[in-house]
Amino acid sequence: MISSSERYICANCGYVYDPAVGDPMNVIAPETSFQELPKEWVCPMCYAACDQFDPLD
Ligand SMILES: [Zn+2]
Repeated sequence: MISSSERYICANCGYVYDPAVGDPMNVIAPETSFQELPKEWVCPMCYAACDQFDPLD
């Protein structure tokens, strides 16, 4: 079940977090929604905090 497949974009560097892919660099498994990310998660490209991200769609 996919509760949220919404993608989020980093306002700082343009990295897109895609829940279908997860974030291998931070050991985030595929099918992890943005809301499910640990609060200490940061952008793998520029280390911006998750509050720097905006919904892409
Ligand atoms: Zn970034």
